[in-house]
Amino acid sequence: MSETQDVLEEERSDFIRNIVRSDLAEGRVKSIVTRFPPEPNGYLHIGHAKSIFLNFSIAQEFGGRCNLRFDDTNPTREEQEYIESIQRDVRWLGFDWGEHLFYASDYFEQLYEWAEHLIREGKAYVDDLSAEEIRAHRGTLTEPGRNSPYRDRSVDENLDLFQRMRAGEFKEGERVLRAKIDMASGNINLRDPVLYRILHASHPRTGDKWCIYPTYDFAHGQSDAVEGVTHSLCTLEFADHRPLYDWFIENLPVPSRPHQYEFSRLNLSHAVLSKRLLIQLVQEGHVAGWDDPRMPTVSGLRRRGFPPAAIRDFVDRVGITKSDNVVEMALLEHCARELLNKSAERRMAVLRPLKVVIENYPEGESEELQAVNNPEDPSAGSRSLPFSRELFIERDDFMEDPPKKFFRLAPGREVRLRYAYFLTCREAIKNDAGDVVELRCTYDPETKGGNAPDGRKVKATIHWVSAEHAQKAEVRLYNHLFRDVEPDVGAGLAAALNEDSLEVLQDCRLEPSLADASLGIPVQFERQGYFVLDPDSGAGGLVFNRTVALRDSWAKVQAKSGPKP
Ligand code: ATP
Ligand code: MG
Repeated sequence: MSETQDVLEEERSDFIRNIVRSDLAEGRVKSIVTRFPPEPNGYLHIGHAKSIFLNFSIAQEFGGRCNLRFDDTNPTREEQEYIESIQRDVRWLGFDWGEHLFYASDYFEQLYEWAEHLIREGKAYVDDLSAEEIRAHRGTLTEPGRNSPYRDRSVDENLDLFQRMRAGEFKEGERVLRAKIDMASGNINLRDPVLYRILHASHPRTGDKWCIYPTYDFAHGQSDAVEGVTHSLCTLEFADHRPLYDWFIENLPVPSRPHQYEFSRLNLSHAVLSKRLLIQLVQEGHVAGWDDPRMPTVSGLRRRGFPPAAIRDFVDRVGITKSDNVVEMALLEHCARELLNKSAERRMAVLRPLKVVIENYPEGESEELQAVNNPEDPSAGSRSLPFSRELFIERDDFMEDPPKKFFRLAPGREVRLRYAYFLTCREAIKNDAGDVVELRCTYDPETKGGNAPDGRKVKATIHWVSAEHAQKAEVRLYNHLFRDVEPDVGAGLAAALNEDSLEVLQDCRLEPSLADASLGIPVQFERQGYFVLDPDSGAGGLVFNRTVALRDSWAKVQAKSGPKP
């Protein structure tokens, strides 16, 4: 419970919670049951996190429960791998469904009986039209549909054909079962929708038991009814399906009456959140996998170092409404930065190293200096850092011919080495190509800890690592996967991708304590950003991912345009 304590701390208000409150107050429901109903045909993304947060937090706030139900009605696209990844991701986000793990496929027998029930009531029929013909009969938004010539089959003939569909007598596409509602309905979903289709495909859970499968629409609402779900929360594109779900509930002997409420889906800038496109990114090799740290998937964000609490905070700030909008990725990064600033320990890491030799520091010697782990959290304590004659500093922290406002190292200039001494640059050594390859410097032994006894000041403090003691590492820097705020993938994904979404630095040098970094626990590389160990680390060396840089573009956006959400 402590993981998700933040969920309970404040009272939230939105149109769905208002409905829930009044349903409870007026006794329309005794206790709240929600569910998160993924189709196991891909990995979860940040949009799903919004839905997960909504469903589970409403259940927590109102003392109800939230089920995890897999809507696994399409065996051709669903896989066990997805079922497992979804459970891992929901748990990692900090939510627990307890014993309430369900599968729509658990209800296949019940759904089949309900289909026969509709046939017996004269409300469903077996149609021999092909998928194409059914589409042609459906009409358009402005024209009514036409009845199928098979619409008036007798109950007996329908039952016989439906049973033979189940028995495997027919080929895929030869026949379907349709509801008999109204081909002239203004709502196309009510124009005799398909309830069952023939699919000679093995199902991850029911194996070869079935060769007919219910459609998502026929399974979804009834599954909610079986589970006693009181509030079926889904995204706006299902609003037009609600009359159909209600029709099923009214025409079937279901054990309970769920009510569906729709909210707007989350769209994230510089990203795509459709599973179809995410699968394509993986299959076409544009990313390293579902958990590529540039992916907006839960597993990608985890690998990137985003703490689950930052993701909860983000979807909470976005809130629940009915209006569509695109949320800036910068807000997600801001949430991570705000949290990590409080929790992440500080470390020193040099990403683009430049060698420094301290000429007046004795050769072969070294000493241990104390460094604070987290200035925001005194309980995080301190650690020791080895200091010696040869160091690495950041290439960017030196300029041979500095412009006016550059206060860091330059020939003849003195700066402070973080937690160490004042350092003065005496000479820049160049290679044949004219590039600076080494700095010859001196230090002032009187300035240990960072202050000069004579009171002289320096204008900059830079980070460093001891060359001899440093760990080598690869560091991966990430930028937006897509170039535009709202990617246009009309001309294919490749054309919309940001070519600079990944920058790999091979020769980084880290302070020695980073050899013991843990997966999933980001640290701040001082002056650079938040970084986390990548699972690719191993015998080949350490690999770190940049979660977010320190610079907060969101705070800037907010400063320009008004208060924080
Ligand atoms: P996609 O469009 O990415 O394929 P989906 O809606 O088909 O997503 P499901 O597995 O059916 O994926 O989604 C499970 C639940 O998550 C549904 O209730 C759906 O409404 C919700 N959901 C999906 N995408 C978003 C989103 N971007 N924002 C909020 N909720 C979402
Ligand atoms: Mg869906």
